[in-house]
Amino acid sequence: MKKTELMYEGKAKKVFATDNDGLVIVSYKDDATAFNGLKKGTILGKGAINNRVTNYLMKMLSEKGIPTHFIEEINDRETVVKKVSIIPLEVIVRNIAAGSLSKRLGLDEGVKLSRPVLEFCYKDDALGDPMVNRYHILAMNYCTEQELDLISEYSLKINRILGDYLKDCNIELIDFKLEFGKTVDGEIVLADEISPDTCRFWDTVTGEKLDKDRFRRDLGGVEDAYQEILKRLLGE
Ligand code: ADP
Ligand code: UDP
Repeated sequence: MKKTELMYEGKAKKVFATDNDGLVIVSYKDDATAFNGLKKGTILGKGAINNRVTNYLMKMLSEKGIPTHFIEEINDRETVVKKVSIIPLEVIVRNIAAGSLSKRLGLDEGVKLSRPVLEFCYKDDALGDPMVNRYHILAMNYCTEQELDLISEYSLKINRILGDYLKDCNIELIDFKLEFGKTVDGEIVLADEISPDTCRFWDTVTGEKLDKDRFRRDLGGVEDAYQEILKRLLGE
């Protein structure tokens, strides 16, 4: 597998074309941003940790019946994945109130929701990823109704599998963001990443935050928190 040209450079990853038309290589960076790019910084070692954590969790999910874009980790920060056209939605699943939900509904962070909440945001940095509902998604043709149903079903299933899995590592899955894409064969698969950048992870005993909120909120110990997630999941 050979990298050819850089197709896209985002805030946290680069995506390279390869000599195989159906595959791309994602390269994880140490760059960190928050608040739609307003806050910028570096989290040393983050790229390698997010790469490894994402691949580990995607493999686990695919064994439990969730199709993913994952193909092969080629080094610490680079992975071969199926090339997809990304469905322009950020799917957010919440179990416990935090972040923007707490603000919007006036809930204390940490309040348990009586059932999981699914939210969709239209992926558009210039618009600040506005929240959209089912009607917007279908009216704007962001995806088809069947695709939306499948994405919703996968997201709730991922929540159950991941939530149970993380509990055994003493990690509470508060909320997280997923992206899905369509492969060249038309299959809907889980894409992008699942990492401390895109999930809220709290220690089940102490409630300590082990995710990007440490960077967003200047809590300190950012690198240690990412390292701790790697250790609890992969044992290193
Ligand atoms: P952002 O675009 O928000 O700055 P990243 O820095 O993480 O985010 O960039 C990675 C980009 O690659 C994202 O736009 C994501 O949707 C896209 N992407 C993720 N997985 C794939 C894939 N398998 N094929 C093509 N693009 C992908
Ligand atoms: N999230 C993400 N990317 C985004 C927005 C949110 O990965 O562009 C994740 C975030 O890490 C959290 C969940 O989605 O785990 C819910 O985020 P929220 O809506 O509370 O927004 P935030 O407080 O991060 O602005």
